[in-house]
Amino acid sequence: MTPPSLRKAAQRPRLVAVSNRVTHPRGAARGGGLAVALLDALRERGGLWFGWSGQISDHPDTRPAVVESGPIRLATMDLSQAEHDAYYNGFANRCLWPLFHLRLDLTAFDPQHYDGYMRVNRRLAGALWPLLQDDDLIWIHDYHLLPFAEALREQRAKQQIGFFLHIPFPVPEMLTALPHYRDLMRSLFSYDLLGFQTEDDVQRFRDCAVREFGAQLRGDTITAFGRRLTARAFPIGIDAREFAQIAGSPTAQQEFQRVRAHREDRTVIVGVDRLDYTKGIPERFRSVECLLDRYPDTHGQVELLQIAPTSRGEVPEYMAIRRELEQIAGNINGRYAQLDWEPIRYINRPLGRRQLAGIYRASRIGLVTPLRDGMNLVAKEYVAAQDPADPGVLVLSRFAGAARQMQSALIVNPYDNTAVADALQTARYMSLEERRNRHAALMRDLLRDDADAWREAFLEELQRCSAQREEPASPTAQAA
Ligand code: ADP
Repeated sequence: MTPPSLRKAAQRPRLVAVSNRVTHPRGAARGGGLAVALLDALRERGGLWFGWSGQISDHPDTRPAVVESGPIRLATMDLSQAEHDAYYNGFANRCLWPLFHLRLDLTAFDPQHYDGYMRVNRRLAGALWPLLQDDDLIWIHDYHLLPFAEALREQRAKQQIGFFLHIPFPVPEMLTALPHYRDLMRSLFSYDLLGFQTEDDVQRFRDCAVREFGAQLRGDTITAFGRRLTARAFPIGIDAREFAQIAGSPTAQQEFQRVRAHREDRTVIVGVDRLDYTKGIPERFRSVECLLDRYPDTHGQVELLQIAPTSRGEVPEYMAIRRELEQIAGNINGRYAQLDWEPIRYINRPLGRRQLAGIYRASRIGLVTPLRDGMNLVAKEYVAAQDPADPGVLVLSRFAGAARQMQSALIVNPYDNTAVADALQTARYMSLEERRNRHAALMRDLLRDDADAWREAFLEELQRCSAQREEPASPTAQAA
């Protein structure tokens, strides 16, 4: 008799996941939440994961390297140095990333980067095409691959193709500053389903489609360029149950003891981020400075533990933020430090998940203050790692996608140093009862809206979209 898990898999179309990087199942824990969620889906349905190998090669092969791992096939492509410079460091990370995070001042428009980005998308799509089956469900991830479906359709792909944007969608005024925005918007209409982190992102996409391209709206569906798609919010979750377990593991407990040792009753505030200008780390340091200025009882008593490993180190804007942070931390510590205490401790390297979980749990306050963020998983991990009997307090930026769901956190404006300082002081003196109540509300939602729920909601919707596609679309809305 066929086991139930295989019967279930047999009823579902095969999943083909495409993302910039592919994570081997052996490295799933290091690959983070997305890797784990995709691998679970691929294991359940059987499927293929396609993307860049992470390797640069002088003469990249035109065909993917394919590895089988149980029911999962991994197919990867190398990139040349020139491709990597234009597609990844250039257009994706120096143009789309800052633009979508509303940093027009840091956005570099370079036509050669754009050409390279389009070429890599087409080359990767051409390499995937021969591996596809007629009834595959194809799920493309993130801003590196916006035009991927269009490139597949040029190869005559008829499959259902969905896209999930992990970062925010910008306001139309920002997007239209991009010389190629028309082409990119048109290319998005090659998808059947567009998933965004929040309702606000969906709304901004709809506004842009209507204002710039005369798109027609009906419920969740949008018609333009002669195609109809569904656009909906699917806020990404974490495996909260597993993260809570990790926080009780021996490694996490060891880390917990290391943080608490020598600190007695001091309040540890933790910040954990990739070193990125969107994360608001300089503003966070300034808020701690403001806390020290406004509340003298914090002297010798409060410490910000900021863990921020370098990321995208080849991009000039990321080198600048690193220098800036070291300078601000140095100034604040110089001003306030005592013989046995420094207000800011700044660690510039990555840590393991178990270590992080222990540090989260040992910290009275989780300070998550991005200036703009698609979701922000650190906020969710901080809550999941807490001891429910004596939990810490999350102070969260209103500009993180997570703030939409996590209203029981203390929500702050990260640009307002005084308001953040006041929220930190409120968190310091919050009663045990209030901390427990807030934590319980946050945790209930995290357990319900976890990584499994996110991925299943997206894939179910993508399957549903196929029925809609059978109906004819309304008359073509012309591009402006
Ligand atoms: P982003 O995707 O922009 O980096 P998120 O907060 O959504 O931001 O996700 C960051 C992920 O990276 C989280 O899972 C977090 O645990 C992990 N991470 C962040 N900083 C570190 C660090 N110093 N060491 C290890 N992992 C980290």
